[in-house]
Formats: sequence, structure tokens, C-alpha cells
Amino acid sequence: MYNREVTLYSYPSKFSKNKIKVLLYYPNNYYIGMSNLGFQTIFHILKTIPDIYCERGFYPDLCSFETKTPLKKFDLIIFSISFEIDFINIIEILLKTEIEIFSEKRNIPFLAAGGIAITLNPYLYKNVFDVQFIGEGEELIKEFINEFLANKNFSKIKGIFTKYDNFPDRRVYYKDDLVSHSVIITPETIFSNSLLIEIARGCLFACNFCAVSYNYKPFRPRNKEKILSIITMHKDNYQKIGLISSNVCSHPDFFEIGEYILKLNKKFSISSLRLDTLKEETIDLLKKANNNTFTVAIETGSEKLRKKINKKLTDKQIFNAIELFIKKKVLNLKFYFLVGLPEEEFEDIIEIVNIIKKFKSIYHKNRNYLKHFGKFTISINPFIPKRNTPFFNYKIEDITSLMQKYSFLKKELKKIPNVELIFENIYSAYLQYYLSTQNENFVTELINKVKYRLSNKKFIDKINEIYY
Ligand code: SF4
Repeated sequence: MYNREVTLYSYPSKFSKNKIKVLLYYPNNYYIGMSNLGFQTIFHILKTIPDIYCERGFYPDLCSFETKTPLKKFDLIIFSISFEIDFINIIEILLKTEIEIFSEKRNIPFLAAGGIAITLNPYLYKNVFDVQFIGEGEELIKEFINEFLANKNFSKIKGIFTKYDNFPDRRVYYKDDLVSHSVIITPETIFSNSLLIEIARGCLFACNFCAVSYNYKPFRPRNKEKILSIITMHKDNYQKIGLISSNVCSHPDFFEIGEYILKLNKKFSISSLRLDTLKEETIDLLKKANNNTFTVAIETGSEKLRKKINKKLTDKQIFNAIELFIKKKVLNLKFYFLVGLPEEEFEDIIEIVNIIKKFKSIYHKNRNYLKHFGKFTISINPFIPKRNTPFFNYKIEDITSLMQKYSFLKKELKKIPNVELIFENIYSAYLQYYLSTQNENFVTELINKVKYRLSNKKFIDKINEIYY
């Protein structure tokens, strides 16, 4: 894998005996870790600090990626945790490497952690990591390293949470106009051989369930000139571009950026689209860039429930967008829905089926114009309450009720032709729920899960008796 990587920058940080050895560890495999822009950005910053020597690590390896050095030989390990569930992988590797899990029993290595999972629920990890980064790591990492090299007195750094702090209410965000982008291009990523570039951070909207909106405030579109110069500078090293933003259309210069990429003879893809900001030109541009499937999050079929969750998207706006997709001959659509939302009634679940049927019938009516049949992919996911959002105080819906809703949707949606269904595993959603909401006492349960190799189902059945 290593020799298939193209590194876009050369770094001053070379190995020498006097330098502290830092490992940036992604608690999932190489493919997922290297697809993560946050991981790549922090790696870049660490590599530019001359006083340290930094390598990467990926689960399930018990050693570094670059030199195969065992984890225990590093002075400092920084975990980048985007998905709560990956914490279980960290427990597993700490057990296997015989590194003490609890910080009070551990001398070395020093363990730090950052990423959205940490910002959302640092209480859980309080007794494990020596420090946690609350907010955006780019803002904290240099100051943290300086203090690590000096006195290790982290209490003065805003955004750093240790077990001695009571309230990690000091989220920091990066104020400079940093344009995060891939620093290593590799074929082994979700968007193979692509340059990922973040054109905006945060979101202009405020859906009540959404961790992005409340934890990446304020909305920060990145400077167009900087984005274009990065795209130009590295153009010989990538094949495609992935534009990252909660909604690319919210960037005031999205069209110019897209047109510029096309002029370079490159293709690009986007992460997601809000239907109420969709325009004909957007679809034209995206089609020219080779996007054949458009992903949209409607969340629920019912306008009434959409209002309750503050997803400001009316049925009229949705159907206007569907008409636009048809006009532009967009055949493949992917829809995201949530089930188990607060105040949801069974009628709202029926509305999911109804709205998909309506979309299909509009497509069917236009079959002569469209000439081909496309596919609808429907992703159904349980609502999981997240800290720092207005819906945090709600519970995840009970398993039996979620299962009933799943089986109704499966049965009804299967009847619709050319539909692919993806259901998020309910037990895995429950695991995320507990990891997002529990405190430090829950770590013992997780250690037992790993030690006794309990499946998610067995674990959740047992845990629900105590915690639900
Ligand atoms: S769900 Fe999408 S539109 Fe709503 S707040 Fe989150 S990122 Fe923004």
C-alpha cells in the first residue's frame, strides 16, 4: 500500500533519537482512515512540527504503518475518532498491546484523542485518555504539542479536557481560513486517487437531530482563491476531486469552483445536496462532472414531522426538485430517512412509503422522455440522539418498535420496482447510542464486550436490561 501513495508535501520532521515519537492512530482500517480528511489534516500539521517525529497507525495493526514500530514504543499516541463505535477497536488494541486502558494506572505512552466522537461525548473517555480535544483539532494540536514538550500543564489550553475538568464546555473552532485537503493520495480510499478538499465547514441550517450543525458552528465557506490554488498545485497527482461540505450549494463560489475543475479536465463528486438550494445549473454542472447518482436527505416522508425536527424542507420543494431531476434526466437517486424520531407516529412511517411511491409514479409518467429506468437507493437509519443538539434528551426508540417499523418498510418498499434498500443495523445503532450518551462508568462494560467477544446483539440485550 505504502508504495502506491503519493505524498503531496515534503516534511521537515525526520527521525532522530532526541525527538519525541508521536503516533497518529486511526481506529479503523487504512481504507477508512485515509478517506478521512480530518485524519489527513492533523497528520499534515504534526509532520510540519520539527521537534517531533510522527507516523500513522491503523486498526487492527499493533504497530505503526511506516516503520512497523510497536505502539508501546511511542511517547505519545493521538487517536482520531470520527465514529463512536471505533472506540471499541481502541479498547481491543490497548488490551492486545498491554497498554493500560485507564490513565491513572498508565505511565507511558501518553494517550490523547480528538475527532467529532470526542467532542460529542468526552465524558465517556474521561478516565482513558490523558487529554481530549474538544472541537476542531487544527486549532489545538500545535499548542498541545508545545505544552507536551514543555510542562504538560494542559489546563490553560481552551478546548483541552482532562479527567480533572468537570465540564468540557469549551469547544474551539478553527478561525483561520484553513482549506483542509488530502495530503496523501492513494488508490485505497473510498474515493480512489482523489484529492478531497473541504470547501466549507459547518452548516447554514439547524436540523434538531444533527451533530454537524451544532458542533461545527459557525458556517465557514473557504476562500475561493485558496481552493483554486490547491486544486491547481496538485493537479498532476490526482484523478478526481471530492468536494466536501454539508451542502456544496451553500458555498457562494461553488459554480466557479466546479467550472474551474472541469476546465482542468478533471471530474469531481460532492458529499450531499439540500433540495431547497438545488438549481438547474447545479444539476448540469454535476452531470458534466460525471455525477450519475444524486444523494438527498429528506429524513422523513411527512412534512409535519420534518417541521418538528426543524428540517425546513416542504413537500412542494421536494417535488419541485424531483421535477428538476426528471427534466435533467437524472435517473438514480439516493434518499436518506430516519426512523424513531421524537414525536413520530406510525402514519409518518407510512408517509415514507407514500412519498417514494409518488416519486416513482412521477418518474413513470415521464418514461417516454427519460427512455431509461434508473434506481432509487433508500437508506433507513434509526434516529440516535447526540449531545449538544436540541434532541439530546430523547431516547433512541425501543428495539421492538424499531423492528416493527423496519419490517413494515421492508415489506412495502420491496413492492416498488427498481428500489434498493439499505437498513442500518439496529444493534449497531444502539451501540452508537450508548457510546454517545454514557459516561466513564460504561467503559468497563465495553472492556467486557471486547474480552468476552460479545456480539453487538448479545451485548445490547444485556446492556438494555440495565441502561435502557
Ligand atoms: S442535516 Fe444537513 S442540512 Fe440539516 S443541519 Fe445537518 S448538515 Fe445541515
